[in-house]
Amino acid sequence: PTMGNMVMRILLLGSPGSGKGTQSSRLQKNFNVAAISSGDLLRRNIANGTEIGKFAAKEIERGAYVSDNIMIELITNELRTIKRKNWLLDGFPRTINQAIALDDNLSLTGQPLNLVINLQVPEEVILQRIMDRWVHVPSGRVYNLSYNPPKRPGLDDVTGEKLSKRTDDNAEIFKIRLQKHRELTEPLLEYYSKRNMLVTFTGSTSDEIYPKIEGELLRRFGVENFNQGGRP
Ligand code: ATP
Ligand code: MG
Repeated sequence: PTMGNMVMRILLLGSPGSGKGTQSSRLQKNFNVAAISSGDLLRRNIANGTEIGKFAAKEIERGAYVSDNIMIELITNELRTIKRKNWLLDGFPRTINQAIALDDNLSLTGQPLNLVINLQVPEEVILQRIMDRWVHVPSGRVYNLSYNPPKRPGLDDVTGEKLSKRTDDNAEIFKIRLQKHRELTEPLLEYYSKRNMLVTFTGSTSDEIYPKIEGELLRRFGVENFNQGGRP
C-alpha cells in the first residue's frame, strides 16, 4: 500500500564509503528524482576555485566537517534551484544542527522530508572501497577499480574526462572521517527514527542493497515515479 503523500523527499544516510553516491546515481536513473550531494557540491566549488571551495578544501583534506552555517546556506540555496518535486539528499544534513535547520526550512514550505534511508555496510569492506575509488568531479560519478571500473582506465565513461582521487580517500584521513561520522552524524539515526522516518538496509555491496531500496520506494511512493525503461 502506498502512503498518502506520493512526493519523494528523501535523505540518504550512511558512513563514509557506504555507497550513498552510487545508490543516488541508480535512483536518479530509475526514478524521476533530482539529487543533491553535499560532497559533490563542495568538490565542484573546490574545482572552480570559489570562496566556499577554498575554505572547504582545508576542512575536507583533514577529514573535518565544513561548518554548519556554510553547509546550511549552500544546500538551502541548492534546494531552491531544484525544479523537480521529487528529490533526494546525500551527505546533508550530517549534524543535528543541520537536521534541525533543514526541518525548519522545509516546514516553512510545507514540504518536509518523508523518508530517511540508512545504508549499513560492514566496516571491514568500506576502507578497501575507498582506497579503490576514483571520481569524476563535474558529475560526481563514482568508479571502483575492483567492482565498477571505468570502461577506459582513468577516464569517465560518459564524458571521457579524467577521473581523480579524492584528497580525503586515504587510510589516515578515512579514520578521522569515520570518527567524525560516529560522533556527529550517527545521532541523526535516533533523531529520524524517533520521527518514524528511518529505514535501514544492510549489505556488503551496493548491488546487494540497491534492490531493497527500490522495493521500498515502489511500496511507499508507487510506480508513478518509476522509469520502467530506465533500468541500467
Ligand atoms: P562517501 O562519499 O564515501 O559517502 P562521505 O560521506 O564522507 O563519504 P562526502 O559526503 O563526499 O563524503 O563528503 C566529503 C567531505 O565533505 C566530508 O568529509 C566533509 O568534510 C565535507 N562535507 C560534506 N557534506 C557535509 C556536511 N553536510 N556538513 C559538513 N561537512 C560536509
Ligand atoms: Mg559521497
